[in-house]
Amino acid sequence: MSKPIEIRNPRTGKYDYVIIPPPEKLLVQQCNRLRRAQQNWFDLGLDGRIEALLQWKDAINSTRDKLTEALVIDTGRLQESKLEIDWFISSINRWCRLASRLLQDTEKGTSIPFINLQQTTVPYPLVGVISPWNFPLLLSTIDTIPALLAGCAVVVKPSEITPRFMAPLMNVIGTVPKLRDILTFIEGDGKTGATLVENVDLICFTGSVEIGQQVAMAAAQRFIPAFLELGGKDPAIVLESADIDLATSAILWGSVFNSGQSCHSIERIYVAKDIFEDFYHKLVAKAYKLKLAYPTLDSGEIGPIISERQAAIINEHLQDAVEKGAVIHCGGEVEEIGGGWWCHPTVITEVNHEMKIINEETFGPIMPIVSFSTVKEVIELANDSFYGLSAAVFSESRDEALKIARQIDASAISINDAGLTAMMHEAEKNAFKFSGLGSSRIGASALTRFMRKKAFLIKTDDNYDPWWFNQ
Ligand code: NAD
Repeated sequence: MSKPIEIRNPRTGKYDYVIIPPPEKLLVQQCNRLRRAQQNWFDLGLDGRIEALLQWKDAINSTRDKLTEALVIDTGRLQESKLEIDWFISSINRWCRLASRLLQDTEKGTSIPFINLQQTTVPYPLVGVISPWNFPLLLSTIDTIPALLAGCAVVVKPSEITPRFMAPLMNVIGTVPKLRDILTFIEGDGKTGATLVENVDLICFTGSVEIGQQVAMAAAQRFIPAFLELGGKDPAIVLESADIDLATSAILWGSVFNSGQSCHSIERIYVAKDIFEDFYHKLVAKAYKLKLAYPTLDSGEIGPIISERQAAIINEHLQDAVEKGAVIHCGGEVEEIGGGWWCHPTVITEVNHEMKIINEETFGPIMPIVSFSTVKEVIELANDSFYGLSAAVFSESRDEALKIARQIDASAISINDAGLTAMMHEAEKNAFKFSGLGSSRIGASALTRFMRKKAFLIKTDDNYDPWWFNQ
């Protein structure tokens, strides 16, 4: 028997939902059943799989209201929940359009005149997907959609902090006969996640570095691939020539979107000394205008801090900064309102690399600003991090911005904007340092990484005898 887990509502603080993780034995059986059904799914061919995914998309569209409602209760915010569903729909459309080009077998001649090479691919039978709470639908389907098109069966374990969206999603999957045998979402916490890693053929994990390392070690023991998408502490660099109005608006958006609960959030801002005053005054003025989405969902732009544990981390980082001399210009703490945890956009100066607010992932709408004097200094500061997910550079000169971007240890860098990686589907990128490991989850490799490459080496000229020992 598994113990039920009570789930907190991020707006009210009440525990108003329960999940019951599958007992280990049942989960193992379920994985074996999905793996057995995978061959039929693959045999449908790409056209059959595309047809099933498009049916899934249509069924989601027709039950959009229920899915939105569940996502809103899970996360306490409305606009981002609607965006997640739009993203899901456009992602299915895009992958269905691209898949045939990426999954084609080829045959061609080789450097040896009498041998042709037929190149084909074989999908991993069962893919496991483990996802976090900050974008529950998006992050549980971003790997799932391409894996299904590649011909894999998929079992998804979303975060136990935001599990309500799974019920409407599973109901929809139940209406698509070709999908229901090869795709499932399971409820559970870390224990269920760990069992899943033991029973799949490839694991896609999105979450913290700490758990990512555990997943990577378990996968290594089993010799299965693990694609890890982990935390970040993205820097934004604002050079003296930058358009301050543009930079403050972009950085504010990049920091407070989804209340800062995004791996690609701007969490450190480095501003050239001569424009520092002007920059932070403008940023504070803009940050002040944003309101909490309380008491109603549309009262403002800033939703609640979804995870209670994260609310405590944000407060810990703010307290540490203030104790070490930081100055807060607006916002400043995570406060309890109506049972939920809320944080106004917070701008802080007098910060340095000795503080947690600069060193550790905060995951809130917090904007610490540091001034710099030289390009060399700012590159060192930006790279002085455990993480290497993404970054942003603002400059009047594209060449100057690109020259700096090349020296930043991060997988994607927005020029004169912030957080573009979250919107870009074409850009292939590999995380630097502890922000992740494995093939890119966007661009073509997002699909091809689910296939093992296989080669047929075909002799084409029977008269040609290469066996030197026959001569
Ligand atoms: P987390 O690591 O605590 O949990 C992530 C998932 O792992 C959850 O589903 C959890 O139940 C599961 N899990 C816990 N222990 C496990 C174990 N031993 N084995 C297998 N699974 C286990 O992360 P979180 O707090 O849910 O998410 C926030 C983190 O995710 C942040 O660090 C954020 O930066 C990161 N994130 C990264 C990206 C990216 O694309 N790089 C995107 C979103 C979030």
